[in-house]
Amino acid sequence: MKYDFLVVGAGLFGAVFAHEMRLAGKSVLVIDKRAHIAGNIYTEQEAGIHVHKYGAHIFHTSNERVWNYVNHLTCFNNYINSPIARYKDELYNLPFNMNTFYAMWGVTTPAEAKAVIEQQKAAAGIAHPANLEEQAISLVGTDVYEKLIKGYTMKQWGRACRELPAFIIRRLPLRFTFDNNYFNDTYQGIPIGGYTAMVEKLLEGVEVILGAPYRSFSKETGHQFERIIYTGAIDEFFDYSLGELEYRSLRFEQELLIGCANYQGNAVVNYTEEEIPYTRIIEHKHFEFGTQPDTIISKEYPAAWSRGKECYYPVNDERNNDLYEKYRQLAAGQKQVIFGGRLGQYKYYDMDKVVEAALELAASVADR
Ligand code: UDP
Repeated sequence: MKYDFLVVGAGLFGAVFAHEMRLAGKSVLVIDKRAHIAGNIYTEQEAGIHVHKYGAHIFHTSNERVWNYVNHLTCFNNYINSPIARYKDELYNLPFNMNTFYAMWGVTTPAEAKAVIEQQKAAAGIAHPANLEEQAISLVGTDVYEKLIKGYTMKQWGRACRELPAFIIRRLPLRFTFDNNYFNDTYQGIPIGGYTAMVEKLLEGVEVILGAPYRSFSKETGHQFERIIYTGAIDEFFDYSLGELEYRSLRFEQELLIGCANYQGNAVVNYTEEEIPYTRIIEHKHFEFGTQPDTIISKEYPAAWSRGKECYYPVNDERNNDLYEKYRQLAAGQKQVIFGGRLGQYKYYDMDKVVEAALELAASVADR
């Protein structure tokens, strides 16, 4: 059989692209090496709770088109992410805002908070922040850095903050209002019924083969494909011929707590001290205002990545970005294959950016 497209990876990028191609009347086959669809946004219902099996995902965007698009697929609840940071026995609100600064220093006005930050920044003598540590101190001062950023970031990325790019910390809003919303975006929420149902909707009417790794599938299949959309790791596609890109992996310890209706009072609690090996505990029911008698929590342990482990985060430092650029050039020579998504483009993409990129790609191939 001859298809217009083979989409490798049934995650968000692949599913949006496949959906668009189906609507455009193209023939599409989606394959995924896992036994389920939805990639890392996969959710599974357990004890009546939608569990985010590969880590918490909160949809947020300021792109109206993307928001309308996902709302056509499913209804979103009005969950607003407001994580708590726990440093030893101290609790702080995130992102860094007036509630954080009040708890840290007792300051009650934006002017007072800014004055403390300025003074700490001046004492550290940073004029041009060149890495994550310097960037963090110049944004929020030494105290917030030491208690809420340093340990968490070291655990998360497996290296010191001085050896990490500054952009990672700029993901987080910094504001001088009493506002605990973790995101600055206009729209936010969690799909009612879980992410898996949303991806199912995208893949309605699309042929999907699960448990099918690309390499063996492409060797064995008798089908032909006009184009291939590859959303797996780009270095793996090329058999690591130019060397390995670095990824960060995660391991989750999930617990069902029978008879405990509310374990931590919030969906996300970050453990920011270095001594505790996990970075956060997710209590899934709070993403959907659950009232079940039991609860499910997941402890999230950052882990070194090696071949065969799941890639969660690209490590976008200079070395890796340079290497990615070389892979990208190699990819440009592969006229049949288009690389997309967090792993295909080696980019720390949020979900809305993934949807946006998949829609853009769909529009560009439809034009041809
Ligand atoms: N971060 C931190 N302390 C926190 C939360 C985040 O230092 O309590 C830093 C850390 O370096 C992390 C980055 O901010 O890698 C981005 O955090 P975000 O919550 O956006 O990460 P994600 O949800 O993508 O894992």
